[in-house]
Amino acid sequence: MTNRARKPYIAGNWKMNLDRAHSLDLVKTVKGRLGDGGDREVGFFVPSIYLADVSAVAQGSPLGVGGQNVWYEDSGACTGELAPRMLREVGADRVLIGHSERRHLFRELDEWMAKKMRAALDVDLLPIYCVGETLDERKGNKTDRVLKKQLESGFERVKVEDAHRITVAYEPVWAIGTGETATTDQADQAHRTIRKWLAGKLGDEAANLIRILYGGSVKPDNAKELMAVESVDGLLVGGASLKAETFLPIIEYDKN
Ligand code: PEP
Repeated sequence: MTNRARKPYIAGNWKMNLDRAHSLDLVKTVKGRLGDGGDREVGFFVPSIYLADVSAVAQGSPLGVGGQNVWYEDSGACTGELAPRMLREVGADRVLIGHSERRHLFRELDEWMAKKMRAALDVDLLPIYCVGETLDERKGNKTDRVLKKQLESGFERVKVEDAHRITVAYEPVWAIGTGETATTDQADQAHRTIRKWLAGKLGDEAANLIRILYGGSVKPDNAKELMAVESVDGLLVGGASLKAETFLPIIEYDKN
């Protein structure tokens, strides 16, 4: 058991990887190791086509299962999109919003983020709201400005009473899938900026309920060091969440 202010949260984002059989195997293995999962929260963000099967396997365990994206309307002419209620219907209890691949590859707009956050919260999907600067923005000393702008758009419709259901992930774009990890100082600085902004928006009490995860090339050999930073409440893991051999040591970062 840790004496952290917030329960550690280790989340795996599979992106567009794995197939059905490997997904289910991985979930079975992780589920088997989690036990009652009392002292940490673990979740997988799964390709939506596998959500129903993965949720069925995860059932009865503390393992959370979520979608990687969501649209904000309940129904309508939105070819290729999923409504929040649809994710709930196939067993998801959480969702990623504003992942950098959605923002940069698929040109998702800041203006959508508030609506997505509200729509997710309204059907009891627990959002991880992702923010992070590009390398150019970091080099141009714009990191704080970018983070605040992304937070402003995502939290526009968030209420104080929503705080306990929200997680923020700081994911510097230059660290995602590149093998380059932010230093503990860089992560700490960004997390402090985010927490200060949250406190200004929601007040200290509510802001202190929100976990801030670090994401960007987290691996078994840097997880412990990142989790030792007081402002880091958890990790959002892409590549290393695809195999039990790499994901389990990250979940158990404090056990070796
Ligand atoms: C991610 O998908 O959010 C991520 C951080 O990926 P990776 O761990 O592979 O850098």
